[in-house]
Amino acid sequence: MNSVGERPMHCLSFDVEEHFQVSTFWSETRRQQWGQLESRVSSNTEKILELLAQRNVCATFFVLGWVAERCPGLVRTIVTQGHELASHGYGHELITTQTPARFRDDVRKAKQILEDVSGKRVYGYRAPSFSITKDTKWAISILIEEGYTYDSSIFPVLHDRYGMPDATPTIHLLRGEAGCIWEVPPSSVSVLGMQVPVAGGGYFRLYPYPLLRLMLKRVERTGRPLVMYLHPWELDPDQPRMDGSWLSRFRHYLNLRKTEDRLRSLLEDFSFNSIHETLESAVGEFSINGTWCGTTHEVSSRSASCWL
Ligand SMILES: [Zn+2]
Repeated sequence: MNSVGERPMHCLSFDVEEHFQVSTFWSETRRQQWGQLESRVSSNTEKILELLAQRNVCATFFVLGWVAERCPGLVRTIVTQGHELASHGYGHELITTQTPARFRDDVRKAKQILEDVSGKRVYGYRAPSFSITKDTKWAISILIEEGYTYDSSIFPVLHDRYGMPDATPTIHLLRGEAGCIWEVPPSSVSVLGMQVPVAGGGYFRLYPYPLLRLMLKRVERTGRPLVMYLHPWELDPDQPRMDGSWLSRFRHYLNLRKTEDRLRSLLEDFSFNSIHETLESAVGEFSINGTWCGTTHEVSSRSASCWL
């Protein structure tokens, strides 16, 4: 679907959830109300699909199982338009608040729903608010056991709610007892010895676009693919306002009116593909048996370390 040309290809992704499901406004009371609140996820996602179609770009959509159950038509549209469908879990609970058994149920249920609705295999997972941290590393083994091939949940930055500042900032293999999984960290750039997040979301809305573009071009010059993310609600400046702390409201509502134009600029300045396509084309050159999505990984440590 993408026109590759001479430009380097990068990964573009969207975490598909309702505006009222975000972790920053999470409360048990609001969780009980999800079914009664105004759904805006379909119209917001369709806006993104339209933008991508205009530029003939493929992306990865990490969809919540809860959303897929209620909007199966949206899931099928995503797949029909040639995008990759991946899992954002079922109920958007932070892994840091879950037991391993509960997490396993959540990711298994989401994968099953998404595969049933779409008729496609789901390879990738992204945790709510990147909540695989040093305290929840056990989640990686569970993802491998539940048949996921890549994870995009470990953000190698310092943040009050998530992040693993000393994690590898480039795409790499993680090993668990049941096999291996590709880790696809959201992009960050080293500034004065610190990893600064540049991957999207709130950072995409916070930095002036020319500055963000400068930092993204710096990553591009290293030859590594960018891994970018946004949420459909970030293109919805008219969404109903929720109560929360000053910081939560700042993080969630900052510059919502600018997101759509900035996304257009991003699509103009960089070339994108889905995570699955990017991994498949790159790993194919390095894997020993030429396959990366089998249940038994035969990828040597040499091939893992020499890639990216
Ligand atoms: Zn999310």
